[in-house]
Amino acid sequence: MTAVTEVAATIQTLRREVCALHAQLTRYQLVVWTAGNVSARVPGQDLLVIKPSGVAYADLTPDHMVVCDLRGRVVEGEHAPSSDTEAQAYVYRHLPRVGGVVHTHSTYATAWAARGEPIPCVLTMAADEFGGDIPVGPFAVIGDDSIGRGIVETLGQSRSAAVLMQNHGVFTIGPTARAAVKAAVMCEDVARTVHISRQLGQPIPVEQASVDQLYERYQNVYGQR
Ligand SMILES: [Zn+2]
Repeated sequence: MTAVTEVAATIQTLRREVCALHAQLTRYQLVVWTAGNVSARVPGQDLLVIKPSGVAYADLTPDHMVVCDLRGRVVEGEHAPSSDTEAQAYVYRHLPRVGGVVHTHSTYATAWAARGEPIPCVLTMAADEFGGDIPVGPFAVIGDDSIGRGIVETLGQSRSAAVLMQNHGVFTIGPTARAAVKAAVMCEDVARTVHISRQLGQPIPVEQASVDQLYERYQNVYGQR
């Protein structure tokens, strides 16, 4: 295959993957109506694949996905891209390790975001997945770089793959789009459990040495090699 057809084939694969991953957002009840989205970087290219704006989850097909450059400009696709495209493009531009970004307004995590309160690391699964507290990013509105900048600045100072943007919702990152979706699912699960725990008393923080040990093991040893 020539380089051009190879990139085209990669984009076709990513269209299918990104489309299919949106079913996980509804499966885990992280989104309502058309809110939320998944995107993936096209490896080695200054391109991303993202959900179109305003298309119902049940109607999404691979062909609906929109290919944009890392300034959020449409390169290929019939539809307008998600209104979060600029923010996600900013993340890909500034964090080369990121291969996937997810955005949701999942209920429990967004309730923490509404208070501007980080989710404390009081569960081993939070230490595993996020390596500490899930941090809060600044209040920012759509229309300029401020959401993207807030995500990058907050996650740049944290091991967490999730950030709660104040008064808004969750952005997660990962080496792949699938990993970012997993982080979004885990973020909501942690937010829900810690919220419930706080109704009954004061959750016990996991000691820093144990957080470090759990994170190290989960990130590097756990699972199938
Ligand atoms: Zn949003």
